[in-house]
This record gives sequence, structure tokens and C-alpha cells, in this order.
Amino acid sequence: MSIDLLQTLAPEKKFRQDQVFRAWFDVNTDSYEKISTLPKDLREKLKDKPWLSVRVHAMHESKRDNTKKALLKLSDDRLVEAVLMGRKNLTRDGGRDRYTICISSQVGCGMKCAFCATGKAGFTRNLTVEEIVDQFRFWQKFLAERSLGEIDNMVIMGQGEPLLNYDNIKNALNIILNYTNIGQKQITLSTCGIPVMMDKLAVDKDFPAVRFALSLHSAIEQTRAAIMPSHQPGFLDYLVGWSKKYHQMHPSRAHYIGLEYIMLGGVNDGPKDLKALMTLASKLGKVKINLIPYNNISTIALPSDFNESPKENIEHWHTSLIDAGFVSTVRYSQGQDIAAACGQLRNAVEMKQLLASN
Ligand code: SAH
Repeated sequence: MSIDLLQTLAPEKKFRQDQVFRAWFDVNTDSYEKISTLPKDLREKLKDKPWLSVRVHAMHESKRDNTKKALLKLSDDRLVEAVLMGRKNLTRDGGRDRYTICISSQVGCGMKCAFCATGKAGFTRNLTVEEIVDQFRFWQKFLAERSLGEIDNMVIMGQGEPLLNYDNIKNALNIILNYTNIGQKQITLSTCGIPVMMDKLAVDKDFPAVRFALSLHSAIEQTRAAIMPSHQPGFLDYLVGWSKKYHQMHPSRAHYIGLEYIMLGGVNDGPKDLKALMTLASKLGKVKINLIPYNNISTIALPSDFNESPKENIEHWHTSLIDAGFVSTVRYSQGQDIAAACGQLRNAVEMKQLLASN
């Protein structure tokens, strides 16, 4: 492992950390030696430390849409993926494209959701604060070098379960929010829902008020348990109670609970599933329901037990939810041709190993 910046800075005064973090996000600085405000001995300590703790191992660019997936190598040679998604700016005055980055919180993931490609390889380790922040810095630099602009949104929806790397995610978010222009509402944390950690989050005043999204995927206990092994019995009732605490902590109208729902043909996409979703959602206060067409993981050579729900059915759900007064969107994933869409984030190396062991 190379030198960990946060550990090195821990004994230093707060303003020293400040100087380093400010330089971190200054796209014109590219080494610790160049931070002229730092004392010589500290610069000496950091001399051999690479400016970024992640290096590009491979870069895949979508031919279909403006999506890029970077396979990033960490200091212990493990690989994680971070995705850049560009969208045309459709405002009348034109302007530059808008960019969303999708970052990982862990190497691999232990949650084993049946429909997700990342879970198939299991959990390896948590990412450090620096490795989380560096996915942001990596894309920030990438955009700046090409004069493409800034990061507009960030979603923690890559590899891993962010609430199981709670402290590192919290510290990384606080650094990003303190030293960049990105605001709390431009960041979304997505979780499969870990009750003890959700309890902690709901009362933690130091955890930034980023948008919260829950991977719900079914409002029926048995169905959810069958596709998400992390599901704990009684979770849906728990969620209703938790939502009250959450809204108390974040009373602003802008603060809704995001509900993510992958539409799996014949599994969770029937009339009784829709009814259950509406009943549950109506008990959760302000929510936004995001319907997600299933990205077939068999296209990346992994066996898949699921089918996509027909487009007309997804549209039917979408209209029914809106007619019933819910805020709802359909997420059309970008980057499907480069395996960068949700649930497809796996690196080629681990995939080869997995196939060899089967
Ligand atoms: N562990 C976190 C974050 C990673 S998953 C979580 O569970 O939320 C990010 C989103 O991608 C989740 O909503 C997840 O359910 C979704 N996803 C996973 N596999 C998918 C697939 N094959 N097709 C579409 N969405 C998928």
C-alpha cells in the first residue's frame, strides 16, 4: 500500500489538511511538491506519493451514447470501475453538456442481489476515503483537460454497498462537498437498505444531506427476499417507521426518498406488485419512484435468470404511478454496449476468473 494521505495528515493542524484538500481539486496542481504553502518536511514526506491513488487500467467508450467507463487500478492492483455519463444540455441557451459520474464504494460487493453482475464475484475490500474521492478527482481532471466542463451530479451506484463503508463514504462526501462546487442535492447515495446503518444515518448530523435512494425492487416481502439476500424479514414495515425519522431530519420539500425499482419480467412487474408498491409508497412520505429497465447481465457472459419487463408494461406502471399522484421517472441506462450500465460493473479480470472457476 502506498502512503495514505489522510493518515499522513492526521497529526497535522487542520489548516494543513485544508491546504492539501484545496490543492487536490485545483486542476492546475498535479503533485504534492507543487503545493508551495506546505512546509518542506511535509512535502518531503509526500514526495513519492502519486497525485492520484487511482490509475487508468482501461477506458471503454460507448459508441451509442456519451458514456465512458474507466477501469481504475488501486495501489494494491485491485480494480474498480467509475463511469462518466454526458447528457446534452437541452436548455434554450445551449451551453455545455452535463456530466454525471457514477462511483464505487467497495471493491466488489457482498450483497449478492440476484439480478446484479457485481455481486457475483463477492466482496473484496472497502475503498479508502482517498480512493473514493479520487474517482471524483479522476473525472474532474479528465473533463478539465478536455475543456469539457465540470461534474454536475454524482451517484454512488457503482460497485459496493456504500452504507457498509459508512465512515469512509461520509468523510469522502464531506471533503468533496467542502472543496468543490458540487452541492448536496447533486449527490445521490444508493443502498440496498441495511437497517442498522439506516438508523445511524437518520440521526447522524455530520452525514451530509445528500439524496437518499433505496434499492427497493419489490414491495412484497417474499419477492424482495427472493431476489435480494440482504433483505431482512420485516424490512418493509421498518422502512415505513424509518421514513418518518428521515423526513423529520430533512423537512425540506426538496428532500424525497428515492425508490429504485428494477422491472424484472414475471418476477416483480405484475398488477399485485404495482398495487403493493403504491400502498407502500403512500406510507413513506415524499418519495420519487425510479423505474429501471433490467439490464440483462447475460450480455456480459454471465448466466442470468431474469428477463426484461416489456417496455409497454414499464410505460403502464409509469403512467399508473403518475396518475395515482406519485412522482415517478423511468431510468434509461446509458453505456449498455460497454457494460457500464447498472449491475454490469464488473471488470474483465474478475470475470475471467469467475468463468474459469465455474
Ligand atoms: N449497493 C447499492 C449501490 C449499487 S447498485 C444498492 O444496492 O443500491 C446501484 C443500482 O443499480 C441499484 O438500484 C441496483 O439495484 C441497480 N442494478 C443492479 N443490477 C442491475 C441490473 N442488472 N439492471 C438494472 N439495474 C441494476
